[in-house]
Amino acid sequence: MDIKEEVYSVFLRLLCHFGPQRWWPRIWKEGNHRDEIIIGAVLTQRTLWKNVENALKKLEDYGITSIAKFYDTDEGYIERLLKSVPFRRRKIRTIKRLWETVKYGVPSREKLLEVEGIGEETADVILLYAYDIPTIVIDEYARRWFLRFFGLNVGDRMLRSYLHFEDTFYLKEMHALLDELGKRYCKRKPLCDDCPLKSKCRLYVRVFSKR
Ligand code: SF4
Repeated sequence: MDIKEEVYSVFLRLLCHFGPQRWWPRIWKEGNHRDEIIIGAVLTQRTLWKNVENALKKLEDYGITSIAKFYDTDEGYIERLLKSVPFRRRKIRTIKRLWETVKYGVPSREKLLEVEGIGEETADVILLYAYDIPTIVIDEYARRWFLRFFGLNVGDRMLRSYLHFEDTFYLKEMHALLDELGKRYCKRKPLCDDCPLKSKCRLYVRVFSKR
């Protein structure tokens, strides 16, 4: 089996184990779901999702349910609503700058990366979940799993090519499933004994299974 085939079989195994994750989570009962994803993608940088959930609910309570409204609202006012979010001032400015890019329609990856405060992971989350554009999201969980599972230390570009398939269901689920794996089993200190991937994982087979 080559690496891409193995990646796909990992995807199927994780999907069976955890079930579909159905990202991106919808918090707002009404409002623009695409804008909710874009705002959430920035707010979730370097913080826990539950903080973002609280922040999104607060925005909805105060009628800020689109990026246009977010843009038009006073920065200090929003800052007071987003108390649960670390680095909120910087993130509020990033979201306001993003509006200048997304108001013209579907943004390119290059255009998103030009926005101060938007890195590759956030740009790819926006493209995939907000615009349904086939893009693989690479984060720390994906890097750590790949290194341990395949025993290969590759750069992000190579990792992207191994993990990418032109299927948005796969791409959306794979990012979510690898995050779930990273949170539950493939932690900094891995909990391999209960991991659904252990029988094929190079690190487990070579090291941990022999203890
Ligand atoms: S077996 Fe261990 S190292 Fe391998 S993917 Fe699972 S948790 Fe990570």
